[in-house]
Amino acid sequence: MAEKVLIIKYGEIAMRGNNRYLFINRLISAIRRNIDPFGKYYVVRDPGRLIVEDRGGELDYDLLIPKLKTIFGLAAICPGVRLEDMSFESICEESLLHMQEFCGDKEMTFKVDTRRANKGFPMPSMEVSMEVGAYILERMPNLKVDVKNPDVTLHIEIRNSVYLHSKIIRTYGGLPYASNGRAVSLLSGGIDSPVATWMMAKRGVEVEGVYFHSPPYTSEWAKEKVIDLAKRIADFTGEFRLYVVPFTELQLYLLDNVAHDKLTIHLKRAMMRAGEMIAKQDDALALITGESVGQVASQTMQGIHAINAACTLPVLRPLAGMDKQEIINRAEEIGTFEISARPYEDCCTVFVAKHPVTKPRLNFIEKAEHRLTELDRLLDEAVKNAEVIEL
Ligand code: ATP
Ligand code: MG
Repeated sequence: MAEKVLIIKYGEIAMRGNNRYLFINRLISAIRRNIDPFGKYYVVRDPGRLIVEDRGGELDYDLLIPKLKTIFGLAAICPGVRLEDMSFESICEESLLHMQEFCGDKEMTFKVDTRRANKGFPMPSMEVSMEVGAYILERMPNLKVDVKNPDVTLHIEIRNSVYLHSKIIRTYGGLPYASNGRAVSLLSGGIDSPVATWMMAKRGVEVEGVYFHSPPYTSEWAKEKVIDLAKRIADFTGEFRLYVVPFTELQLYLLDNVAHDKLTIHLKRAMMRAGEMIAKQDDALALITGESVGQVASQTMQGIHAINAACTLPVLRPLAGMDKQEIINRAEEIGTFEISARPYEDCCTVFVAKHPVTKPRLNFIEKAEHRLTELDRLLDEAVKNAEVIEL
């Protein structure tokens, strides 16, 4: 008898010394959170693997695989079977059944790859591969062996049980969510910042979002869009806190009090400062932005330099070296593009100059800011009046 299982491989965390068990516990909790609503499953630890079993029931690959694919820290998911009976005869029979199911009567090439972690098993792995290969070949005339570049590789893993699988579904990789400190992401409704947020979450950073909202210049729809983006990110992270910071008053104040061509730089600096205030409240150790070097006027090296100097926390810019098309491809892949593409205004674009500076000088910007006597108060108020949305 063979029972359907999902064999889950994790990549990078396999290498992490003493923290390993913490990482693995996080992965198990994430797996549980995503699949427990659908049945009673076991998540079994095996060296280098986690095995999802549905003892007694029939595990539904199509239902569970999409639920697992969004978990950061998993390298691959292999739908396979676990054999109750570890005898060589049983391995041959189940391997044949597996290949019949997988290939039907299509003409295909295959090879058998055996890993024997359980040295108590009496046959060496090479011999198992050869013998099982020969057994299958005799009974499936539509198959040929090709050890170099086969259409199908039947993996036989001999551990405390025997597992068979022939399909490796690659997942996003990364590190278990929230295994790596917290950061505050400046999340607009654009294409870039949701991708940046996702990328840092993938590296195990616990993320929360800050959106600067300037009603009536930015509409309720623009805010809804950011909430929908935050929800999409929460599909990967399990939870997400979003701050909606009212920025109208501060923005109008800047509009009246700074040179128009430098408005965007001052506004971005105010955003960094507000983001940092929230980060400090929430014990976050960094900010995240969706900036990409050279993409727009405020993202020249001089622009980034002038904006960056407004805060002291490290600013993570995972998109810094990416082209727009690469960012769009990623946004499509993770399901944020469609939401970002909705046509609602962003507060950065409402009073924007026709010819913004592309090479702001930090000392001039700082001098101008010294004269903004109301800025600190307006920042404090904006942060104090932020709406907190837990997703
Ligand atoms: P995005 O596609 O993320 O909106 P962008 O290409 O439009 O980015 P900018 O408008 O220059 O670039 O914004 C740069 C970064 O500043 C954004 O990626 C985001 O991190 C932050 N940001 C801009 N506007 C807002 C906002 N209204 N609320 C929160 N963060 C913002
Ligand atoms: Mg934008």
